[in-house]
Amino acid sequence: MGTMFSITLYAPEENSAAAAAEAAFHRVDALEDMMSDYQADSELLQLCDQPYGKPVAVSPELFDIFQRAQEISKLSNGAFDITIGPCVRLWRFSRKRKTLPTAAELAAARRAVGYGNLRLEPHTRTATLLAPNMRLDLGGIAKGYAADEALKVMTRRGIKSALVAASGDIAIGDPPPEQKGWKVSLSTIDAHTNQVTGTWVLHNCGVSTSGDTEQFVEINGVRYSHILDPSTGLGLTNRIQASIIAPDATATDALATTVCVLGPKRGLALIDSMPHTAALILTKNGTQTQSFASRRFDKLHGKP
Ligand code: ADP
Ligand code: MG
Repeated sequence: MGTMFSITLYAPEENSAAAAAEAAFHRVDALEDMMSDYQADSELLQLCDQPYGKPVAVSPELFDIFQRAQEISKLSNGAFDITIGPCVRLWRFSRKRKTLPTAAELAAARRAVGYGNLRLEPHTRTATLLAPNMRLDLGGIAKGYAADEALKVMTRRGIKSALVAASGDIAIGDPPPEQKGWKVSLSTIDAHTNQVTGTWVLHNCGVSTSGDTEQFVEINGVRYSHILDPSTGLGLTNRIQASIIAPDATATDALATTVCVLGPKRGLALIDSMPHTAALILTKNGTQTQSFASRRFDKLHGKP
């Protein structure tokens, strides 16, 4: 998944703790083999290689993550869209060449994008790609999903005070012994500073931050994020960073990406409409930084 996963846990005994962590890492590896966009034989890419219109039986995990993704797509009116794959490919190419795709390339890619063209059939557990040249990309949700699954593996083995971090996506279990929760600091929107906007004390939830602080490309003086606006097929050009806290990391990973696309106003409206979900959004315009907190954000524990 192009990132490092780390596990922190508390356990009364070392051997079972090490075995649990190892099992959790194995789970992440197995999910990567299913969901990778870089391994040609991943289950995800094999699905994309099937002729369009044909229902394809998929593993329970892939079906599960598709369903979670489609829920967020519906709630966000397509701001989050895992069928964005053809545009992501163009973006990667642009990043290498430092040129924008041509209008024709972009139009061709966009014809294959639209979450309504991914049909899921729960009874048969099949996925059908309804348009030609579709390509699914789980880059906006898979890390959070894998972090949640790794945490579940440990919980099942009785290790409940654990935290799984996959760079910006974190799955958090029970608090460390005799503490109220895990201390999580959210960084500022500025690259390469160690400044934080605050530290929160959290347990049994997910936390994710998305933005273009680390991944972007500059073309003709314009900065494009690796988060794409499905309505244009291009990277976002406004500087924005979204941190989300919600019941699990699958939700926070997808929502952090979504809120970057929606922007502060529509982003906060979405977050405030969802139970147990909070957001902190930072934007930067020239040298001016603004911050927007959702209604529930201010009620969280440990707010500075
Ligand atoms: P990061 O990978 O830096 O943690 P995100 O979770 O925001 O960041 O995911 C960004 C990735 O999600 C992109 O690299 C791309 O693969 C995919 N993506 C980009 N735009 C969208 C979008 N609008 N909807 C869903 N996935 C997207
Ligand atoms: Mg994400």
